Amino acid sequence: MNCSFCGKEIKKGTGIMFVKKDGTTFNFCSRKCEKNLLKLKRNPRNTKWTNEYHKIKKGTKK
Ligand SMILES: [Zn+2]
Repeated sequence: MNCSFCGKEIKKGTGIMFVKKDGTTFNFCSRKCEKNLLKLKRNPRNTKWTNEYHKIKKGTKK
């Protein structure tokens, strides 16, 4: 399972699960990721420390 925000792997038994009212489930590796997505409404694509950001950066280089 991977973090819904940063994309890093979450080990079993760790992390935070969050279910929205509409039934969408998020998994977070840390409170930091939870806060960034739910409270600050940041896009992982524009957040430098996420895997998502690095993936896109790599993709655009080629
Ligand atoms: Zn994370």
